[in-house]
Amino acid sequence: MKYISSTLIFLLFCSTQLLFADQSSFQKDAEPAAYRIILSPTASESETWAAEELQHWLYEISGEYLPVQRNADYAGPKIVIGYQDIISTTGTEMPAENDESFQYFSKGKDIFIYGGKQRGTMYGVFSFLENEFGCRWYTPRVTVIPKKEKLVFGQYNYKSAPGIQVRNDFYFEAFDPIWAARNKMNGRMNYVKQPGGVEAFWAVHTFYPLMPPAEFFDRHPEYYSLINGKRTFEIIKNDHHQLAQLCLSNKNVLRIITERIKQKIRQNPEYMIYDVSQNDYYNACECDKCQAIVKKEEAESGLMIWFVNQVAEAVEKEYPGKYIGTLAYQYTRKPPLNIKPRKNVVVRLCPIEACVAHDLKSCERNTSFLDDMQKWATISPQLYIWDYVVNFAHYIMPYPNFAVLQSNIKTFKENKCIGIMEQAAYQSRGGEFSELKAYLIAKLLWNPDTNTGDVIDDFMYGYYGHSGRLIKQYFTLAQSLITPQQHIKIGLRPTDAIFTDEFVNTSVQIFNEAIKVADNESIKSRVELTALPVYYLKCRRDPAGSRSDGTYDKAMNIIQREGITHLAESEQTIERFKTFVEEAK
Ligand SMILES: [Zn+2]
Ligand SMILES: [Zn+2]
Repeated sequence: MKYISSTLIFLLFCSTQLLFADQSSFQKDAEPAAYRIILSPTASESETWAAEELQHWLYEISGEYLPVQRNADYAGPKIVIGYQDIISTTGTEMPAENDESFQYFSKGKDIFIYGGKQRGTMYGVFSFLENEFGCRWYTPRVTVIPKKEKLVFGQYNYKSAPGIQVRNDFYFEAFDPIWAARNKMNGRMNYVKQPGGVEAFWAVHTFYPLMPPAEFFDRHPEYYSLINGKRTFEIIKNDHHQLAQLCLSNKNVLRIITERIKQKIRQNPEYMIYDVSQNDYYNACECDKCQAIVKKEEAESGLMIWFVNQVAEAVEKEYPGKYIGTLAYQYTRKPPLNIKPRKNVVVRLCPIEACVAHDLKSCERNTSFLDDMQKWATISPQLYIWDYVVNFAHYIMPYPNFAVLQSNIKTFKENKCIGIMEQAAYQSRGGEFSELKAYLIAKLLWNPDTNTGDVIDDFMYGYYGHSGRLIKQYFTLAQSLITPQQHIKIGLRPTDAIFTDEFVNTSVQIFNEAIKVADNESIKSRVELTALPVYYLKCRRDPAGSRSDGTYDKAMNIIQREGITHLAESEQTIERFKTFVEEAK
């Protein structure tokens, strides 16, 4: 796991400005409809935005412009947004501000859409447009809005609640705050106009930033791990990894970490979970005091939970309702024997070693993780999962793990997960089926029982138009590479036995056909971007051949045209790919 610092530029403000510009142009020509959109005078920012969005998309559907007004004083039919006085007459109760569930229903001609003020109402509006009018926000760039001659409203009665409380869809595509809001993702904090984002862990591997060796080691080497009889720390320049651990039985370490995490909460009160966790480095402390606790608990995690529980207890007095998170990762993955995480501790597990050809329940290679997770679930009030859904060694290579996405999310939910982070191709566009996976993961995190076949088919035809049938054919072919004996992990390689020349050649043919039948230039670009993993795989397996038959040029053209910066998680991957192909004999 790497520490991810995401400096994201959010375009929401610009987009809102555009929305207003649109409005003034359509306000003039459009016939006003009888319906009005009713906002409460105390509507939240996200409710106000949701009303504007509703107005905008209903106009896109029908050409009809529904005025928004900030009071219910209107005799005609209304679409009432957010919980307000007029809704209380329907006998419903006001939801909590941060309640993300929502409902929409009809009463006579009036339509009511509401949930919690922070995000529930907003999600209700988008789901209304999605379910009742077929609006799709497939990617930040591609929205599909079915047209209608006239706006006709039906009778509605729909309720929905999030299946997973913290939903972190960690694809580059999913970082767009508007796309995320429209697809009910809340796993990031920077939704400027949509308050209530709940991403939690402001980082992981926080021992180092909370207690930097540069600050303490000279004066207090005893704060750090005793390894082979020596207090130790290392820094590798230009690397994300922090090579130090703390001596957790040292009272001053507990005092400093507690003070500093409280300071973090004071400085960043908007988060839900604050992280106190081991660095990305083995080397737990071997001192007698630390090891006595480890021995008693028969696990390194026993020492970790003993430490984190004390931090959490101290934090709770000042900040009830906030959680302290920690990792059960590598040497701490095995749960402790006696001690249990406190009620305000969230243990985060990482199935980094898992086989992703098969789900957690059906592969013998996943038994040990599943076992650990189930034991953690038994002793913990709640868990959080940092999951991995792409091939980190080659983001853009075929990676047939679609079949496990849903069943694993369901397994996490069964095991008390309040949050799931689906770490994916986060630095750049261009990951294998990135658009589809980001979209599907959003649907699954909201509702783990989503019918994935329906979502995939809808995406194939909605996003790829007439090419969708062929893309689906390629998709099915790629998923069929998985057999009961074929296990894959997060570092799949181009030369692994799962891939054959026959697969590559058939896939190239399917894509040639799909490109030919593309409805327009824009869809053609989407199809080519989807073909890139196959071209890339061919280049990796046969660099000289791919250079002479034009596959390499095609791949590089797509990479440049689409502004792809990362072919894998590490840096400089495009340069390395170029060298690999261009210098091959
Ligand atoms: Zn120690
Ligand atoms: Zn397997």
